[in-house]
Order: sequence, then C-alpha cells, then structure tokens
Amino acid sequence: MKVLVAVKRTIDPNVKVRVKSDGSGVETANVKMAMNPFCEIAVEEAVRMKEAGHAEEVIAVSAGADKAQETLRTALAMGADRAVHIVTEAELQPLAVARLLKVVADEEQPGLVIMGKQAIDDDSNQTGQMLAALLGWPQATFASEIVFKDGTADVTREIDGGLETLNVNLPAVVTTDLRLNEPRYASLPNIMKAKKKPIVRREADSLGVDVSPRLAIHKVEEPPKREAGIKVADVAELVAKLRDDAKVIG
Ligand code: AMP
Repeated sequence: MKVLVAVKRTIDPNVKVRVKSDGSGVETANVKMAMNPFCEIAVEEAVRMKEAGHAEEVIAVSAGADKAQETLRTALAMGADRAVHIVTEAELQPLAVARLLKVVADEEQPGLVIMGKQAIDDDSNQTGQMLAALLGWPQATFASEIVFKDGTADVTREIDGGLETLNVNLPAVVTTDLRLNEPRYASLPNIMKAKKKPIVRREADSLGVDVSPRLAIHKVEEPPKREAGIKVADVAELVAKLRDDAKVIG
C-alpha cells in the first residue's frame, strides 16, 4: 500500500515565539522554521512501515508557500519516496488543508494517511479529523502504537484515562502522538539523495477547492508573566502565607 504523510512547516519548536505588537498573530518574519514535530513523528512512522514491508511507497504532502518545499525535502531525506507540494500563499485553516489533502488522497488512493495530531503553531488539532470525515474513512487520533493485522490496523490511542486500542479498517486516517516513535535525524548522504527525489508542484487554485478562511482571529496575546517564587523558613510561615496572602486555605 501507499502511505500519504501530511507535513506542515511551523516555527521551530526551540524558538521562543513572539506575539506581534498589534496582537494580530505571532511573528514569523526572520524566524527559524522547521517541520512540525508531530509531522516528523508521522514521517518516521511511515518510513518504518516501508522498512517493515507494510508499505511500498511513502508520499509526503504539504500545503503552503514556496518554503514548504524545504519541509518536504526534510521528509524526503528522512526516507519518503516522493512529495507533493500544494502551492498557495493563502493562510490555510484546518478545513482548507483537509479539503486540499482530500484531493491528493483521492488521486493517490493511499492505504493510510498519517499526520500530526496537531500543528504546534495554531494547536488546532482538527485537520486529521476533518480529512477522515471528508473521505468517509475511519480515524484513529493520538496514536502511540500502530500494528497492522489482516488488512486492518490496531491503533493504540493516548486518551485522558490511559490507553485505548481501536481496530480500524483501511484505508484510514491516523494522527500521531508524542510516544509513537523517536524520529530519526536525516543523515548527510540521505539529505544529498533527497535532492534528486521528485517534488510535484500543484497550484492550490487549480484543485477546485474553497480555501477561504472560516475563522477570524480577534487577538493574540502573551500569557501572563509568572511571578518569581519565594522561600519560606518553615511550615508555619507557609501556612500563614497560604491563608493570609494567597487566601487558598481558611
Ligand atoms: P492542525 O489541525 O492544524 O493542528 O494540524 C494537524 C496536522 O495536519 C499537522 O500535524 C499536519 O500533519 C497536517 N497539516 C496541517 N496543516 C498542514 C499543511 N499546511 N500542509 C500539510 N499538512 C498540514
């Protein structure tokens, strides 16, 4: 089967995110960008599926401006076979991305779409669920283990109360959680090899999809600054502070 893996270019998770002074969003100009960490986990899992003989081909797909190519090259260097770049300068919200990914899924007919559970920039956690609904395929979100069995997949999910295992028919959409795997670093020879792997460019406008925004951001602001802690001399002082200053005990 083919595995389609959706990857998003986001602010590098090691960079301190700064809110724009007008509160309209976060600063992305001159900021180091990288593949969304949950998408790295998705690429790693897809490549492992190929290495284990469950998948014949891994296709990476990303929607976004020209620079999304860099993210696709990273996916190719990690072991994806080829890539599709849906080119658009438009700001894409989850429904728009899900619609664009559906077009690619309809064309490629993968046995599995694997993607991040959320993008760390907007933290939407919506695209996988919406894509599964649009395709009419089963979905298993927040996966921490995927085991293939007789043309189906057992997916262990991280849920509030612990772990849940679902058996889904294929094709399906799976979204990745942190504990699924530890993504590999692309080696230099693989980075070089990835330069020769094909990236097909598709103009989003030519795919007949409505990508207009459905959500409006009213304001983005920094969380309140945490105040410095203090040291207390003994339990009596702690109790007094909790009662008189913090007023959390009677
Ligand atoms: P979100 O619903 O925005 O939190 O994103 C969840 C997942 O959807 C990401 O981890 C990606 O796998 C996928 N995704 C979101 N935006 C894009 C995009 N522009 N191109 C490709 N995949 C995307």
